[in-house]
Amino acid sequence: MAHFQRAVGAAVILNTVIVVGEAVAGLHANSLSLLVDSVHNFSDELALLCLYLAFFLPAYLGRQSQRVANVLNSLGLITLCGVAIAQAVVRFQHPPQVSGVIPMLAGFAAAAANYGVARLLREMASYNATARLAYLHNKGDVVVSLAPVLAGALVFLTGRNQADVLVAVSVAAWLAFSTAREVRTSANELLWPEHVECLHPVPSVDHT
Ligand SMILES: [Zn+2]
Repeated sequence: MAHFQRAVGAAVILNTVIVVGEAVAGLHANSLSLLVDSVHNFSDELALLCLYLAFFLPAYLGRQSQRVANVLNSLGLITLCGVAIAQAVVRFQHPPQVSGVIPMLAGFAAAAANYGVARLLREMASYNATARLAYLHNKGDVVVSLAPVLAGALVFLTGRNQADVLVAVSVAAWLAFSTAREVRTSANELLWPEHVECLHPVPSVDHT
């Protein structure tokens, strides 16, 4: 278990690097698409942190923390997507100067780091349902983090700053939609994580 605990701890640290890196680069480059992905990765951070805490907390408290994290994660993410879309409307009318190169570089780095997070969770994913969800999610995030790369490339090639806003709105709308769908279909598991069964429980040592 200590081995898995270390892997999840490393995943939390790597994910923090993504959140901070994208936020700093996004503010520096005036890139809304990078800022939206930073917010998205911050919500993933809460999920990873909760997985990490589950190693230390007693089962009951572990489930409570998971429940709070799930609610914050989903409702918070939908709210922030709404804020991003409102911000995009303002930016679309008065687009600030966006750097094309920074979102491309930061997006590639974030995609590589998300791949690293997924790799760290891969082994544990075979034993635990929550870890498996986090693993599959972060594997998908490798592609999501390429959205700022697309935004940067479009700004770079066309010279139009609105391209960054369009990509940011698409990602925010998709995140809000997929989170709302997840809440609707998995509300039971999100609010009562004890109902989630591990398909492959950690194998116990056979003493016979
Ligand atoms: Zn994610």
